[in-house]
Amino acid sequence: MDELSKQQETTLHDKLLKQKNALKNLLVDNEDTSKPVQLDQQALGRVSRIDAIQQQKMAVANRASQELTLVQTIKALRRIHEDNYGYCQECDKYIPYERLLIKPETSFCIQCQSALEKNT
Ligand SMILES: [Zn+2]
Repeated sequence: MDELSKQQETTLHDKLLKQKNALKNLLVDNEDTSKPVQLDQQALGRVSRIDAIQQQKMAVANRASQELTLVQTIKALRRIHEDNYGYCQECDKYIPYERLLIKPETSFCIQCQSALEKNT
């Protein structure tokens, strides 16, 4: 696998920056939805209360995964600046450009990523 060209690195850097800003905006927008649901027995029937709790759980899970992606995105940007980007943090091999295009924040190659996911 080849090292990233300057142009590829610039493309990925751009993607990471956009992704970082998009996630930040998203997290600000979602701040209200992930606050605990007010369980007003008078205002809500039983079914809509369950609905509200489920939506709440989904919002919290979504938010957690967005926050994780944001952290990974910021770390990836730092690696670009440190000239340490595009390697797998586990096996030290180059991560293919095609993979980075889809998931620029990733720090593992596909092999290590799936090995890590099996272990969790
Ligand atoms: Zn690897």
